[in-house]
Amino acid sequence: MENEQPVISIKGLYKSFGDLDVLKGVDFTLLKGENVAVLGRSGSGKSVLIKIIIGLLKPDRGEVIVLGQQIDKLAGKELDALRLRIGFSFQAGALYDSMDIYHNLSFPLTMNNRKLGKKDIDAAVEEALEAVGLKEKMNQLPTDLSGGQRKRIGIARALILKPEIMLYDEPTSGLDPITSTEINALIMQVQQRYNTSSIIITHDLTCAKNTGNRIAMLLDGKFQATGSFEEVFGSKDKQVESFYEYNFI
Ligand code: ADP
Ligand code: MG
Repeated sequence: MENEQPVISIKGLYKSFGDLDVLKGVDFTLLKGENVAVLGRSGSGKSVLIKIIIGLLKPDRGEVIVLGQQIDKLAGKELDALRLRIGFSFQAGALYDSMDIYHNLSFPLTMNNRKLGKKDIDAAVEEALEAVGLKEKMNQLPTDLSGGQRKRIGIARALILKPEIMLYDEPTSGLDPITSTEINALIMQVQQRYNTSSIIITHDLTCAKNTGNRIAMLLDGKFQATGSFEEVFGSKDKQVESFYEYNFI
């Protein structure tokens, strides 16, 4: 079955920084077409996990297979080629404030010796902006946009190469509840429109509930509870419970 095919498969992943053991035996599978919300407290290793998935950090131990390839074994052009198939929406937005939105978006298209004509680049920028509902902002600077709009532009930039996998690192952090709700809806629209499989990293329970077909809780360096939102938060596990309380009180 097509939707049983894993696009990311992680087995026995360990990562430490000096004495700090961050990931301690992570097992994880992302199936084609799935949106998985990865929940965990600040400092639990969520961003480290994403960086390993895109090959920015090397695992100490374990197997990380992304779109059929063991990413930590790749380098140079092969690694670049695989990364182009993954869209990454950064935690901090990471837009270039000195460039207008058009150039922020077209930038990935002009890298890696891609030989696209201006017409193709314009069309790609327009399509990505349309997908996030901000076509009219093409010639503005990031500093002219609201926090929510900047997040949208970050997502548009991640979409520009029509990725097979989307990774969202804290897509709703720093946003008010209404804007967060809009971003959650956008993540679902992106999945439909681009047929992506996604990981949504978050410590926002509402975001996890509204974007994840499945929830995976990163606790003490491992995934300790996975399933639907109701399954995970209906469980009696003490740490899961305390996470739940911590987020709502
Ligand atoms: P979060 O779940 O909030 O995204 P991170 O994955 O960013 O947490 O970080 C997990 C832990 O690993 C933190 O204690 C952080 O300080 C540490 N860490 C992350 N990257 C590095 C690094 N490159 N060098 C040393 N420590 C790091
Ligand atoms: Mg983080």
